[in-house]
Parts: sequence; C-alpha cells; structure tokens
Amino acid sequence: MKKQILCVEDEAGIRNMIRFSLEREGYTVVEAANAREARSCVADSLPDLMLIDWMLPDFSGPELIKRFRRDELTRDIPIIMLTAKSEEEDMIYGLDAGADDYLGKPVSLKNLSARIKALLRRSEGFNDQRIIIAGRLQLNQDAHQLRIDNEPVHLGTTEYRLLEFFMQHPGKVYSRSQLLDFVWGQTTYIEERTVDVHVLRLRKTLKQYNAEQVIQTIRGAGYLFNADV
Ligand code: CA
Repeated sequence: MKKQILCVEDEAGIRNMIRFSLEREGYTVVEAANAREARSCVADSLPDLMLIDWMLPDFSGPELIKRFRRDELTRDIPIIMLTAKSEEEDMIYGLDAGADDYLGKPVSLKNLSARIKALLRRSEGFNDQRIIIAGRLQLNQDAHQLRIDNEPVHLGTTEYRLLEFFMQHPGKVYSRSQLLDFVWGQTTYIEERTVDVHVLRLRKTLKQYNAEQVIQTIRGAGYLFNADV
C-alpha cells in the first residue's frame, strides 16, 4: 500500500517540486494550497504524514497544526513543518504547536525524503505493535512476548498478565486484593495467597535474567513495579 502524504503549501512551484520528487519515491501526494483545502483533504482521506508550510494565506501553519493535534482523528499523524523563517525561536514555536520535525526552505529534497522515512518508520512502530518498554524489559502486548535485553523470555499466562499489569502501572503499590481484582477479575474467587504464588513464579523467571528486583514487595501494602532499579 502506497503511503499518502498531504502537502500543504501555497506556492505552486514548491508544491509541484515536492510532489514530483515524492511520487518518484513511491508515495501518493495530495496537494492543498491553503488551510481550508488541507482540512477538506483530510476529511476525505487521512494521510500518513503531512507537510505543512509555515505561512499560508488563510491561516498560520502552527495554528493549523494545533487544530490537527486537537482532533482525535489527526492527533497522531506525523507532521513536518516547512519554514522559510530560520530563527530558532520560530521553529520552537512550530514544534510547540505539535510538529514532529521542521525543514527550512529552500527544501532539500534529499533531506525531506530522509525525514519522511524516519517519521513514517516511527509511527508504524507505534501503530503496528503495542510495546511497553521499561528498563531492560520489553513487553509486546500483541505477541504476548516478554524480552529482557532483547532475549525472548517464556512466561506462563498468569505471570504474563501479572507482569503486563505491573508494566502498565509502574511505580504504584497494589495490594493483593487489588491485583486479584485487576488481573484475575472480580468474578473469580481466589485466595490472596495465589497472588504471592504467581509473583514468586514471575520473580523466579526474572531472576534468570537478573531482573527480579523490578517487582518489589512493600511490607504491609503489596507489590510495586519499578524498572529503574
Ligand atoms: Ca507559504
């Protein structure tokens, strides 16, 4: 599937040059000459990435970016800001508005292509797989796979769910009964001691990788996950 890039730029010359170059690299390019057109393009079909010029006839680039960032549908689309202004504080304003990157004009096509690739790679990583990283631990929630220092680690189903819960809520103490509710579900009746048994098993596995200290026992309170130890 071809990636779609929306180019929002009022100067037709620059727009054409960018479109020509990106199409040659295999992207589909949609063009908008102002903010109004940009918003109607996005309403028609969501692009994979947007290039937005700083100075548009009807709106400023940063204002347009802010609007896209406020909208749930467009919040996560990577945005590269094109700017003729080279002053640093202006670029910071663009990044503050929510741009992921910026590129000064005249646009270097080689540079543009490299940044587009980097941003698309990053956003794909986020969309395709849900991965929680905490210190040396990496939990792939789609594959139900734990890696420590990039080594795959085998976990039982309950240990996996327990660790997943901990990694989703780091730095917070959970009592045994809370863990039973959140990890096992309120409908099942299980003794609180069961939590200890599974924590013990989880720690035993982690210990093989010298990582058992991520799950801490807080006396009289419960357990806490902390990967920064
Ligand atoms: Ca312009």
